[in-house]
Amino acid sequence: MKALVYQGPGQKDWIEKERPVIAKPTDVIVRMTKTTICGTDLHILKGDVPAVTPGRTLGHEGVGVVAEVGSAVRNFKEGDAVLISCVTSCGSCPNCKRQLYAHCSDGGWILGHKIDGTQAEYVRIPHADNSLYPIPAGADEEALVMLSDIMPTGLEIGVQAGHVKPGDTIAIIGAGPVGMSVLLTSQFYSPGRIVMIDMDPARLELAVQFGATDTIQVGAEDPVARIMELTENLGVDVAIEAVGVPATFDICQKIVSAGGNIANVGVHGKPVELHIEELWIKNINIAMGLVCTNTTPMLLKTLQSGKVDPGKLVTHRFKLDEIMDAYEVFGNAAREKAMKVILAKIV
Ligand code: NAD
Ligand code: ZN
Repeated sequence: MKALVYQGPGQKDWIEKERPVIAKPTDVIVRMTKTTICGTDLHILKGDVPAVTPGRTLGHEGVGVVAEVGSAVRNFKEGDAVLISCVTSCGSCPNCKRQLYAHCSDGGWILGHKIDGTQAEYVRIPHADNSLYPIPAGADEEALVMLSDIMPTGLEIGVQAGHVKPGDTIAIIGAGPVGMSVLLTSQFYSPGRIVMIDMDPARLELAVQFGATDTIQVGAEDPVARIMELTENLGVDVAIEAVGVPATFDICQKIVSAGGNIANVGVHGKPVELHIEELWIKNINIAMGLVCTNTTPMLLKTLQSGKVDPGKLVTHRFKLDEIMDAYEVFGNAAREKAMKVILAKIV
């Protein structure tokens, strides 16, 4: 089979590789129908994630069809259409019992990280009963792929950890796929005002189409002064960081109101200054974490009910064997006006 393989910092190849086989009775082999590229894959390619070693197949998002089933798998059979969670989990260890699937003692975020991932014709999924979801008949596959990682990330780490409530004024910093997922899922909780902050005017325009009530363009406007103007100097109830750089976390610390919440979604490669001397007196809560995908069943229901359509995040489509071109587009997202890039099965 063919797979997109990490070959060391800055290097990747679309090469012929052994098709994965069942290694444990709880495994399933999935034939990929659709996958995508995540911002995290770009971090890996830069060499920012040293746990990923050369030879690793990348990718942790996708849908497919079950091709082979281990003897202990109960919930799936050959031919079933499935959604793959970016987090695989045993479902029975102490962390899994608390729904901390990202911290499963025999799983977590391992696809395209510690074991081979989804940017291939086939992938092995450990603990399949707890790591795959049956695809409802007639569901839009492109929308479903957004439920592997970015939509649960936005909902769990941004919206729920930030305790977004009806009527709240919230600010989301970063209008990438993850920030857009925060924007879409925040609307389940009816905030009164949603301010999207980014430096890319095209992404801000898209955010308005997806429900942002106000936008602030970093570079052209001072985000802190503008938030204070919009909120009569109160600040926002919830400030959500979806970039992963010190400057944007700093903005969150400055714009959060007394009694407010900061939710940090971005992955930070560098230490970030925490201004406890200013935050303590404002009664601020700060939350952060790794997506656990425990909201995937709920997101599947909202998708089915038509309440949300994450498929609208897709801007580009390629065949799986055009993945090198797809990386070129996704790696130059601003220039290419790219949000999510879908890779479909080679027929
Ligand atoms: P992205 O790079 O596509 O988007 C980031 C956005 O931030 C871009 O639109 C960019 O223009 C904007 N931006 C950059 N610097 C800025 C600044 N100084 N001020 C304002 N805007 C700025 O990334 P993404 O794929 O949307 O992911 C966002 C973050 O979420 C990443 O750090 C990613 O690693 C992280 N992430 C976290 C989890 C988790 O489990 N917590 C899961 C998935 C992704
Ligand atoms: Zn576990």
